[in-house]
Amino acid sequence: MFSRTYRFCMAFILAAFAPFAAAGQSQYVIQISVDGLGSSYLSSLIDNGLVPGIARIKSHGASTLNARSDYDMTVTLPNHTTMVTGRPVMGSSGHNWTSNDNPVAGQTIHNNKHSYVAGVFDVAHDNGLRTAMYASKTKFSLFDVSYDAVNGAPDTTGADNGRDKIDTYLYGNSSSITGSFVSAMNLSPFNYSFIHYTDGDTAGHNYGWGSEEYNNAIINVDGYINQILTLVDNSPVLGGRTTIILTADHGGNGTDHSIADDPLDYTIPFIVWGAGVAENQDLYLLNANSRLDPGEGHPAYSEVLQPVRNGDGANLALELLGLGAIPGSVINHTQDLVVPEPATILLIALGSIMLRKI
Ligand SMILES: [Zn+2]
Repeated sequence: MFSRTYRFCMAFILAAFAPFAAAGQSQYVIQISVDGLGSSYLSSLIDNGLVPGIARIKSHGASTLNARSDYDMTVTLPNHTTMVTGRPVMGSSGHNWTSNDNPVAGQTIHNNKHSYVAGVFDVAHDNGLRTAMYASKTKFSLFDVSYDAVNGAPDTTGADNGRDKIDTYLYGNSSSITGSFVSAMNLSPFNYSFIHYTDGDTAGHNYGWGSEEYNNAIINVDGYINQILTLVDNSPVLGGRTTIILTADHGGNGTDHSIADDPLDYTIPFIVWGAGVAENQDLYLLNANSRLDPGEGHPAYSEVLQPVRNGDGANLALELLGLGAIPGSVINHTQDLVVPEPATILLIALGSIMLRKI
């Protein structure tokens, strides 16, 4: 049907691009959640040159400041459960974790849902990758316990890597978890890690979102993010092989953030930077076929074209690592949120069209 030369050329092109598309762009993904980072506050901090770390990954990455929290809830633990599982909070496909308190002993995401709720840690760990979570609120023990050696699911993917899906879980203040994370990454890097910074939220509750104290707290968090960027810049292992995903659980208004239909509560950043990621691109322009900029709006999950959501991060991270989506997840389940340069996307698409023709 096709000449040998044609087939040879196609094979050559596919050999050049297929591994890039199939194997993922990153060996390491660091997901950072800045608790209470509302986009309007971040925007003025960037404009005033006060958060050089976040400004750097934004201007050298693919991003939007018009991403959304979960539709029904704009509080910390339900939104982080969304970020980790790729599920909404409510509904039959939701993870259904609605409490924002410290979990009581023995409580897990699964026994609350009455069925196992897989997360990003399951897929990464079951595929033999190293995982970590560093958190600055005690209630994040929910994840440590839900995915530990007792409550995590048996690993039925390839080699048995065990039920404990989070290799390292550490709770501490933002300064200490950053120091520990940087040391651990220099020693033996995690392929997927999740880091949570509480500072902005704590200051927001005490002094108000947008107050001087809140702004200073975010400036401090930017300093920790800069330490992580320095780690990536200086490490011969991580440099060029690492992607950072930065987002937030919610914003805030006054000293509260629990009103799920308040734009100041639900409008958050989503920034992707690093290996293979487009430079200085708007995520809505890169994803015009699969995501719709909601303007000031508050789209429900029933809308066909969804906004970029904090819940997109888990399946994006797995895609970047060359892995499939979380079983049972619904947000970015088809892993169609794309972050590479448009030219690269075109070449990958061309490669797959040619593959079908051979
Ligand atoms: Zn809060």
